[in-house]
Amino acid sequence: MGRPNSLIRPLVRQLHAYVPGEQPKIRGLIKLNTNENPYPPSPRVRRAVRAAVDGRLRLYPNPTAERLRQQLAKFHRCQSENIIVGNGSDEVLALAVRTFVEPASQKPSGRGKPSAAPASVVQYFTPSYSLYPVLAEMHGAAKNAVPLSPNFGLPSLAALRRGRQWEFNAALTLITTPNAPSGRGYATRELAALCRAQRGVVVLDEAYVDFAAEHALRLALKFPHVLVARTFSKAYSLCFQRVGYFVGHPVLIAALHKVRDSYNVNGLGQVAAEATLADLPYYRANFRKIITTRDWLSRELTRLGFRVLPSQTNFILVKPPGFSAPRWLSELRQRRILIRWFSAPEVRDYLRITIGTPVEARALVKAVRAILT
Ligand code: PMP
Repeated sequence: MGRPNSLIRPLVRQLHAYVPGEQPKIRGLIKLNTNENPYPPSPRVRRAVRAAVDGRLRLYPNPTAERLRQQLAKFHRCQSENIIVGNGSDEVLALAVRTFVEPASQKPSGRGKPSAAPASVVQYFTPSYSLYPVLAEMHGAAKNAVPLSPNFGLPSLAALRRGRQWEFNAALTLITTPNAPSGRGYATRELAALCRAQRGVVVLDEAYVDFAAEHALRLALKFPHVLVARTFSKAYSLCFQRVGYFVGHPVLIAALHKVRDSYNVNGLGQVAAEATLADLPYYRANFRKIITTRDWLSRELTRLGFRVLPSQTNFILVKPPGFSAPRWLSELRQRRILIRWFSAPEVRDYLRITIGTPVEARALVKAVRAILT
């Protein structure tokens, strides 16, 4: 009998798992660390979920989330064949890696151009969603992490060509837009140019797009190699239920359906997401409230000496004055305010703050003032 460790594939033994934000149970905690929505799901959604907790729990849910896909198709003016729903958008992102990327036959060289064949390259900008490298690693794919421009801008095509690190043949390119953790929004025109130049699949991860000035969904309906990822977690207050989806070409979508679990979206999640789409004005009012609070908090923190990056999301990335970002994290934690700090070199001087309610924003500003004095 082997030792437990020797039973695990080397790839998994060496894997650096994704580290989610903390979900601590501290009384009175102001939780601004995981970009959750501060407002609850609409009363209609809560009623629909409660009403579904009955004898039905015995039965399997619809395997393809059919009704939800039909509603989403109406919402996005496409067909249900253009849509696959997942257990959060994290699941559809993982499905994309499994569907479009060959595991690498040789190790990536680390810095510079990947040595692996383009068919096994997962490409993304840094900083962006920190799950992407983990998805590549667990698949045994090569990673090509390319730095964003200064201030987290999208590099122009000319700059990408000049830089020579960008792989126009990468099997899968993942772009967080608006970007996380910077909050910066990208113009659809810029994204379209980049999509046009890519030969592999491009995923535009629009997890935060409902808080942005524009979205790029039309690119998924225009280009056969572009998928747009959306989620009910952030804008629609449904993290708990885990519902996300891709919109894209029916041929890519059909391939993704082949590799998902048979019942990948739980029944209550389907019910909640369907009820959400029937109550959009409630959510649009929340987007406006969050944007107003975001702009107020940005102004206040700027006044207190923070460098606040312009945000198109429900969080802001700020460079704090006085002492280091980790020290601010711990000072605020002592005052029962939880925010997020990332150790990656491009962002280790920054803090990411989720936009909460106006009351939470005022409490944060008050705590910051107290720390500064
Ligand atoms: N994309 C980005 C950029 C995110 O920040 C997140 C949330 N961590 C997700 C996707 C996944 O969201 P979910 O799985 O809850 O749909």
